[in-house]
Amino acid sequence: VKTSRRKFIAATGGLLAGSPLKTITAESASLAAESNSPPEGQAIIDCQSHLFCPELVGLMEKRQNDPRVFTKEGERYVQMGDWLRKIPPQYLDVGAKLAAMDASGIGMTALSINDPGPEWFGADSAAVARVANDFVAGVVREHPSRFFGLCVLPLLEQRAAEAELERCVRQLKMKGILLYTNLAGRFPDEPQFHWLFARAAELQLPILLHPAKPITSEFVKQYEMISALGNMFDNTIALTCILMSGLLDQYPQLKLVCPHLGGTYIIGRLDHQTQVLKRGPKYLTRAPSAYLRQVWLDIVSPLPMAIRFGYDFMGPGRLLYASDHPWVSPALILAGLRSLRLPAADEQRILSGNARALFGLV
Ligand SMILES: [Zn+2]
Repeated sequence: VKTSRRKFIAATGGLLAGSPLKTITAESASLAAESNSPPEGQAIIDCQSHLFCPELVGLMEKRQNDPRVFTKEGERYVQMGDWLRKIPPQYLDVGAKLAAMDASGIGMTALSINDPGPEWFGADSAAVARVANDFVAGVVREHPSRFFGLCVLPLLEQRAAEAELERCVRQLKMKGILLYTNLAGRFPDEPQFHWLFARAAELQLPILLHPAKPITSEFVKQYEMISALGNMFDNTIALTCILMSGLLDQYPQLKLVCPHLGGTYIIGRLDHQTQVLKRGPKYLTRAPSAYLRQVWLDIVSPLPMAIRFGYDFMGPGRLLYASDHPWVSPALILAGLRSLRLPAADEQRILSGNARALFGLV
């Protein structure tokens, strides 16, 4: 909010340049801007937003194997098999992130690295996690009123992951865990990862699912559909496996977030399959839809009707505004939500109140 206030003053000051009343006017402009800002505690919170970590990009530039970064015709790309994505310089730039936040009135952002996660780096995975988490924590330290951090963990090495989680919570004051929808090919409901759900529930630390290089890459690589379809399939499989595994009965206090409104469209079929056809209800005490309502969903979808369905199904208390910046413009998702003309109190919960409570922000 500070920066937008500064901008406002700068704009007003510009108009009045040369006026003898400049100082007084700047002060009153500041007061006026203050009254136009959302009341304290209501500034928008973005729950999915990434920066590439310069040190990790540098590391990937030196690698011969995936994940690696290379430059072609002046453009930098991150490559994982057939999944190729451009990373322009602003994807590494905190200033560009802050400018995008200001342009949409976003007060705070839950900051995470993007993918690839540490689990793709083999023997270096614990070191990669530390570099990534130190980077995010550093940005948060520089801008404590604008960012809070989500950590990543070297989950294929349990002891290193446990130690890194404790460091992230105790020392780096991280507010959540970014959990990739597959850990280099393994879905997060597998028993080797159950300790993470137990510990997160105990710490009351939200787990935020996030797409990784999708398991289905091979089947969706034609027409460059790995991000469009593959990532969403990965979300759906990871979330559904967690719902079906009984983990949410085992850890009812678990705070789980699924991105991109995941899961809502298939939930009727899942209820029917498990409850009517009795396919796969082994670990369930309730219908899958009941577990889904225990989860939070972020609303990163460019289709307002999809957000509307999420709202109708989940209710106003379980949706979180998020943008997936820099891939998506924060303004696009904001406009989609606002176009629904939800009751003001519900919209406010989605924009900030739910996130505030979920992450324990003061
Ligand atoms: Zn994302």
